[in-house]
Amino acid sequence: MRVKPWLIPPPSYDDSLPADSEFRVLPEEVAALNAAETCIMCGACYSACQVVAMNKQYIGPHALLKAFLRVLDPRDSAPAERLEIVGGDDGVFRCHTIFNCIDACPKGLNPTQAIETLRKLAQKRQAFEAARVERQQSL
Ligand code: SF4
Repeated sequence: MRVKPWLIPPPSYDDSLPADSEFRVLPEEVAALNAAETCIMCGACYSACQVVAMNKQYIGPHALLKAFLRVLDPRDSAPAERLEIVGGDDGVFRCHTIFNCIDACPKGLNPTQAIETLRKLAQKRQAFEAARVERQQSL
């Protein structure tokens, strides 16, 4: 499995933390994550994607949307690992921005925008992970 769709918490996040410790999530992060969370994994975007039709190794829009969810989640501790995978040969840079995924989505989601965000983050993945670690340590 190339995209791990589950949350990977920081190593320090265990039972030793106070019960009232919490991850702070910015309103704009909540808005972005809330929309992507409504994906029902129907696969309509994958079926409509012309890049998938030409290259079955391409990760595809719905899996990339899941990766977007985890990369943007401030509780996750592996954004650099995820960005290295989605930034690889069969990841976000394969997308031709044809927008078929948006037209096909019954939930009105925008996998293309998520892919574009992942492209930008993949180019600065080490700095993004360092900022994530710093943020988690400030809990
Ligand atoms: S078409 Fe929309 S709801 Fe269906 S898998 Fe793709 S992003 Fe998710």
